[in-house]
Amino acid sequence: KLYNQVQDLKGSIRVYCRVRPFLSGVSNCLSTVDHIEDGNITINTPARHGNGHKSFSFNKVFGPSASQADVFSDMQPLIRSVLDGYNVCIFAYGQTGSGKTYTMSGPRELTEKSQGVNYRALGDLFFIADRRKDTFRYDVSVQMIEIYNEQVRDLLVTDGSNKRLEIRNSSQTGLSVPDANLVPVSSTSDVIDLMNLGQKNRVVGATALNDRSSRSHSCLNVHVQGRDLTSGAILRGCMHLVDLAGSERVDKSEVTGDRLKEAQHINKSLSALGDVIASLAQKNPHVPYRNSKLTQLLQDSLGGQAKTLMFVHISPEADAVGETISTLKFAERVA
Ligand code: ADP
Ligand code: MG
Repeated sequence: KLYNQVQDLKGSIRVYCRVRPFLSGVSNCLSTVDHIEDGNITINTPARHGNGHKSFSFNKVFGPSASQADVFSDMQPLIRSVLDGYNVCIFAYGQTGSGKTYTMSGPRELTEKSQGVNYRALGDLFFIADRRKDTFRYDVSVQMIEIYNEQVRDLLVTDGSNKRLEIRNSSQTGLSVPDANLVPVSSTSDVIDLMNLGQKNRVVGATALNDRSSRSHSCLNVHVQGRDLTSGAILRGCMHLVDLAGSERVDKSEVTGDRLKEAQHINKSLSALGDVIASLAQKNPHVPYRNSKLTQLLQDSLGGQAKTLMFVHISPEADAVGETISTLKFAERVA
């Protein structure tokens, strides 16, 4: 195996943390983060969280100065293992505004340098597939879906249709949402076009309810099929790149109706995800996949030989410390 570094990873679940920089225009520069050293992050806790410091340990912590390239290069072996037939899931977790979309896609005004994991991952798969072209023939195709209020929607539609899709794990095709468009891609520009389409469809859905994107999970599913040109053997790998809904708690006394329902769905699916990953990490024989659409969708790609990266994001602002602590606790539980 070319990428046997992957085999050296301890266990199949890794947890990373990224702290975004202060955003320009923010004058309050008191940071929650006291210091970062190797895989440890120490935060300043205010009085209501037990005045002092609290440290958390992860496989890796990226500070505010980490670039998109730094972050990607660390994830590269994991991503390349898809070409060897592994299933990979990468989750971006954190409160709204903590940088999940920045990590996975990039900022709104995208440049090549600021491209996030989604673009870089596909670009890298094409690069390696080309390097192996004398021995392997790879076909890469993608689906892009959104889960909102426990309903699954295809983001790669061109006719504005908004049909609810079913999750049906098909062992034959390896697809868990067989009715969502599956689009072959072979170049970075194909990927950019599709991401733009997906982004546009998310925005269309958002007109009725403002900024719905922070309240839905969006999943880029990459399906890879490789054929060994000598033996004819086929291998399949699949990668799910998931930008999760914001993890912030909403105050039940302040929201009602649709907003409360959304919050309950998000809460339920994020805790279902936490439960699944925690039981996999503990090698618990019962893994509760059935408790949310998200975990049903990923059932075949979480556990077993699959590799999982939970990438939690935190904001540096002192006034976000409550959410920061709850994010770090979530991450610690699945580590
Ligand atoms: P989320 O998806 O978690 O709601 P975003 O990714 O939209 O958060 O980030 C919120 C804002 O912070 C955006 O304007 C984004 O461009 C910016 N941002 C996030 N992470 C970084 C980073 N690492 N470097 C620079 N800007 C960032
Ligand atoms: Mg976002």
